[in-house]
Amino acid sequence: MIRITDILDTIVEYNPEADLDIIDRAYVYSARVHEGQVRLSGEPYLSHPLEVGKILADMRLDVESIAAALLHDVIEDTPATKEDIQEMFGPGVAHIVEGVTKLSALPFSNKVAQQAESLRKMILAMADDIRVVLIKLADRIHNMRTLKYHKNPDKQAAIAQETLDIYAPIAARLGIFWVKHELEEIAFFYTLPDEYEYIDALVNRAKDEKEAYIKEVSTSLHYKMEEMELPCDIKGRYKQHYSIYQKMVSQNLDFDEVYDIIAFRIILDTVPQCYAAMGAIHSMWKPIYYKIKDYIGNPKPNMYQSIHTTVIGPKGERVEIQIRTQEMDRIAESGIAAHWSYKEGTRIDETTGEMFAWIRNLVENQENFNDPDEFLENVRIDLYPDEIYVITPAGDIKTLPKGATPVDFAYSIHTEVGAECTGAKVNGKIVPLAHELKTGDTVEIITTKGHSPSPDWLNFVKTVKARTKIRAVINAREKERSYSLGKEMCEKLFRKKNQNFNALIKSGKVGEVAQHFGFKTVDDLIAHVGFGKLTPMQILNKAVPQMEQDVKDEGFVSKLADSRQKKSDTGIIVKGLNDILVKFSKCCNPLPGDPITGYITQGQGVTIHRRNCINIMKMSQERLIDVQWSEEYTESYPASIRIKTDDRFGLLADIASVISKNKTNILNARTDTSDTGVAMLYFTVMVESSNQLRKLMSELRRVKKVIDVKRIVQHE
Ligand code: MN
Repeated sequence: MIRITDILDTIVEYNPEADLDIIDRAYVYSARVHEGQVRLSGEPYLSHPLEVGKILADMRLDVESIAAALLHDVIEDTPATKEDIQEMFGPGVAHIVEGVTKLSALPFSNKVAQQAESLRKMILAMADDIRVVLIKLADRIHNMRTLKYHKNPDKQAAIAQETLDIYAPIAARLGIFWVKHELEEIAFFYTLPDEYEYIDALVNRAKDEKEAYIKEVSTSLHYKMEEMELPCDIKGRYKQHYSIYQKMVSQNLDFDEVYDIIAFRIILDTVPQCYAAMGAIHSMWKPIYYKIKDYIGNPKPNMYQSIHTTVIGPKGERVEIQIRTQEMDRIAESGIAAHWSYKEGTRIDETTGEMFAWIRNLVENQENFNDPDEFLENVRIDLYPDEIYVITPAGDIKTLPKGATPVDFAYSIHTEVGAECTGAKVNGKIVPLAHELKTGDTVEIITTKGHSPSPDWLNFVKTVKARTKIRAVINAREKERSYSLGKEMCEKLFRKKNQNFNALIKSGKVGEVAQHFGFKTVDDLIAHVGFGKLTPMQILNKAVPQMEQDVKDEGFVSKLADSRQKKSDTGIIVKGLNDILVKFSKCCNPLPGDPITGYITQGQGVTIHRRNCINIMKMSQERLIDVQWSEEYTESYPASIRIKTDDRFGLLADIASVISKNKTNILNARTDTSDTGVAMLYFTVMVESSNQLRKLMSELRRVKKVIDVKRIVQHE
């Protein structure tokens, strides 16, 4: 078992000035809170954070990381809180430990493989400090090393699969290859035990022969390098079981066909020496030209650098050789961790810096940080700045653009969920539909059957899918509305001309007209009348020849009268169209000047209501249509008022005279007198506008003994 002194010794080796006190304190605290807990191996729990701390010390990380490693499970597994950690070890350590804890809380499920890529991105996006990921990887390595103590083989296989799907690829992405390889080898053993045994047996078959072969090739290489005066280290090694297996599967090869089971590596001091070494090897053994890869000139995005060449070796077989400098070798093993120096002011060289702008930022910023918070700000990972990753209640991950809202999320689940979305909960709390989601949020959508999308949503949705689907519904709604309207307009005009529109639809006449105007269906044609793109008259003229119309017409004179009145029969303009049956509602008696709205009835044209009418608010909002008063039209409309008075002799006569002085006709009058002497007088009067009514009402209020005058809807 690792002891704390092993970790301290390791740190002192690479960082003699390190503040070891914080490590000591973290160790003591961790030991205290984990006291009594035991690993499946039977060891005290403390052995686990110690192992993780040692792995990070071997990666030569800073003291904050190692202290955090020792404490990485205390928030999750003991009563300790983030505040405790912050108080004792500072915000930097607390932030890292909290980040590791958050990752542990991610809902891994049996769907891991299907959403592996999203999960990996989410982990990297959630761990806003790269050190959180490094601790998570070290944690996973130790858990894999001790996986044998798990007694349940299904559980072992599941953990191993998750390691292959999530953690090994993250290690590869960060360029930490020793971690990737170790995780893969152990996971391979648990996920595919038979295949593992098979390859293991083959690798070990004729081992002496292979050892001799490694020796022979190495010796030849040594002589050549000496001859060329290129001092170097040469390593011959077996490839990973897992990479051999992958090669067999992906290229459909037998084991014997996998030629590069043994790979050679030559490590030199300088880059020019690397190219010289390549030349020397190619002069000795014939290279397979298309296999030459120069990752020194073109480093991989994870900063990996090396020359790869495959040559025809001494026995006519293929030999894979990697050539690199010591520094490149170190980076190839430790990846991003190689750049995570314990020292301030360490720079990576310019060319590698370009490969990973964010790593360069993070390293350069180390030079001038004073305060730990500012430093944390600077090491935030922004690998996928345009995406967020959120989780469904079932544990699925959805990738959404930055700034996405619950409505986008709902549409990403299903169009219907999007359309019927009426509310959302984020991490258990109700939020507005325009709420901006963040990576790691668990989002739950509340739906209401039959609900349909609001045009307002277009103001905040971010995904193309949501936008397109919302538009489609709005267009369909428009179309339906236009269809109703168009149908009313046609029916009305046809009736006027003694034609039966619906009969003409049945007979196929209107269908011919639709075809004539280039519409696929009669419905399309009718909708376009509602849109105002066509007039009913155009349809009539096409459907019924002029001659027939004239014969059936009531006569020339009435036709003339029609056309004169046509402009505005009712004093109402319906969305710029006049040729529509308009009726005034009985419930609220709108007057010119009142704010109004139209309601498309089923087969009864458009009914006009006051906009604040109680009834209209209860009706289906989809059938509402914009209407306005025509300015050039004057006509009288009925309006009802109620006058509250102290009863007195002659009052009714006084009121009647005020009304008639205003040139207003009384349509109806009624009185109610109560025992208390208060009288209620109800009048229905004909007025031309709401202004006229208002003026009348204010004059009535001045009549002696009148207490109150009110406009009412219907007679109460
Ligand atoms: Mn752990």
